[in-house]
Amino acid sequence: MKRQVRKRPATRPQGTGAKNGFARLFSVVQKHLGLNVHRIHPRVWRRLYKPSANVRNCDGTCCSHGTTVSIAERDAILANRIIVAEFMTSWVRRHVPRWFNRRVAEDDDFTAGRALTTAVVDGMCVFYRKDGLCALQVAGDRRLGNPYAIKPSVCLLWPLCVHEKTLDVGVANYTGRRDCCAPMREGSRSILQVIIPDESLIRRMSRPANSRGGGPPAQSP
Ligand code: SF4
Repeated sequence: MKRQVRKRPATRPQGTGAKNGFARLFSVVQKHLGLNVHRIHPRVWRRLYKPSANVRNCDGTCCSHGTTVSIAERDAILANRIIVAEFMTSWVRRHVPRWFNRRVAEDDDFTAGRALTTAVVDGMCVFYRKDGLCALQVAGDRRLGNPYAIKPSVCLLWPLCVHEKTLDVGVANYTGRRDCCAPMREGSRSILQVIIPDESLIRRMSRPANSRGGGPPAQSP
C-alpha cells in the first residue's frame, strides 16, 4: 500500500496566485500538520496533468486503499470515536477495533514517529461514506467546529504527499482518473494548475487550537 493514496483534497482549482498560495501551504505543512518535511520535490513544478485535470472531479476512488495516519491522529480519532461512529456508514462503525490495521510502523515522515493504516472494508476506507464523503471530515464539521480537526494529514494534502521528508506529487495512477489528479508522462499542466491551496484551510490549520505541530520525531526512528 502506498502512502500517496488519499482523498478529499484540501485544495481547489484556481488560476493566478497559485505559487504564493503554495508557499503558504508549504509553511503550514511544515509547522502544523504533524509532518516532518524539509524539501519540495522538483516534480511539483513539472507538467504531469491533462488540460482538463481538476481536483473538483474527485469521486473518492483514491479512498479505495485506505490511508495512513500517525499514531497521534489515530488517538485523536479514537478519542472522538462516538461522534465518528455517528457519521460512519460502514457496517463496522460500532466495532472500533476494526477501524485500523494493527501493524504500527516507524515512520519519521510524521512528527509522531510511528504510523499505521486505516482498514479497508468492502473495498473502501472504513471512513468512506455511502454518499462519497469522509466520515472524519463530516464529524469534524458537524461536531467539532472544524472539518479538518481529525482528518488525517495525508488526506488533507492529497494529491500532494510527503515521502522521505519531501513534499511531492502523489502517485494516483492506480485510479486512472486523469480528469481528476492521476498524472501522466507528458502532460500540459502542473499540479499547481490542478490545485490551489485552500486559504480557509491554511488559516484554520495554523491556529494554535488546530495545529498538530511539525518537525522530526522527538526520538527519530
Ligand atoms: S480518511 Fe477519509 S479521506 Fe482519508 S482515505 Fe479514508 S475516507 Fe478517504
